Amino acid sequence: MEETTAKVLIIGSGPAGYTAGIYASRANLNPVIYEGEQPGGQLTQTTEIENFPGYPNGVQGPEMMNDLRDQAERFGSRIIPRIITKVDFSKRPFRCEDERGDVIEANTVIICTGASAKYLGLPDEEKYRGLGVSACATCDGFFYRKKRVAVVGGGDTACEEALYLSTLASKVFLIVRKPYLRASKAMQKKVFERENIQVLFECNTLGLFGEDGVEGGHFVYRKGEPDQQEFDLPIDGFFLAIGHRPNTEIFREWLDIDSEGYINVQAPSTRTNVEGVFAAGDCADPSYRQAISAAGTGCRAAIDAERFLMNHDEH
Ligand code: NDP
Repeated sequence: MEETTAKVLIIGSGPAGYTAGIYASRANLNPVIYEGEQPGGQLTQTTEIENFPGYPNGVQGPEMMNDLRDQAERFGSRIIPRIITKVDFSKRPFRCEDERGDVIEANTVIICTGASAKYLGLPDEEKYRGLGVSACATCDGFFYRKKRVAVVGGGDTACEEALYLSTLASKVFLIVRKPYLRASKAMQKKVFERENIQVLFECNTLGLFGEDGVEGGHFVYRKGEPDQQEFDLPIDGFFLAIGHRPNTEIFREWLDIDSEGYINVQAPSTRTNVEGVFAAGDCADPSYRQAISAAGTGCRAAIDAERFLMNHDEH
């Protein structure tokens, strides 16, 4: 078992983690970034990103994350391709253990572990990922201008995504498994009033089909009931909006976490309920979940950590 120390330990490597790394390393804090299970985070799974300021012609998700990683490294972030599996926030320095059992003792910790979109678990979701299957309408909606799409889910996110997509696509099917929407009444009203959104209640997805990408989906109405009926819909895009799961499991014992699993921070700061532990990006953001907002909070977390270290004469 190896033991190392760090003034700033950053757990996670999406836009929040790397941005925290850029700021902390430029402040001469020699941060250590544990990249986690999916180095680069959710954006490594998208194709083109067109809404991150500074890229007028768009940029590929993996390319942007490589750039952010290089930028963090250039100023002295030490990047470790491993996963923190256990933390002890009972006292400082905080003890954090990786999957090999190696321990890093950190004066401050910045949590940037992100959130993962939930999927239905169909093999076709994997097969067509990036080829018509998406869990982010804001990221990918633009590619479906004047096309037909389906959105799965009946909550506020699904309605919001359907409304957003309805401004681009020619037709939006909202696939809802229950006979009603869970979304707020105001949101429901907007959805029902939008001409090109068709809500299909009591429907579930069986699979997708298409040659080089999604061309349609197989669905079932009133699954398991005597009047069950299977049907196909021609669609070009299939959007999941059945919720996100923040990756915060290992922090539950120590941090103030809401009922959905998001870490509560003392906004506008990134401070958590444990002094010296900060959280940034999607793991602490139930409402925006954008690359640019994650990068912004990553910056704030690094500045919060730096100020904390200053106040404790550890910088
Ligand atoms: P929710 O948990 O509220 O809704 C998830 C939806 O997905 C439900 O309709 C659920 O169906 C459905 N679903 C879950 N699993 C499956 C499945 N396997 N197959 C089919 N459907 C499934 O998540 P949201 O992301 O919509 O919202 C999360 C929180 O964020 C909520 O509190 C919401 O109010 C809030 N929010 C607020 C917004 C706003 O105010 N503008 C915008 C976006 C989110 P079922 O109902 O049957 O369980």
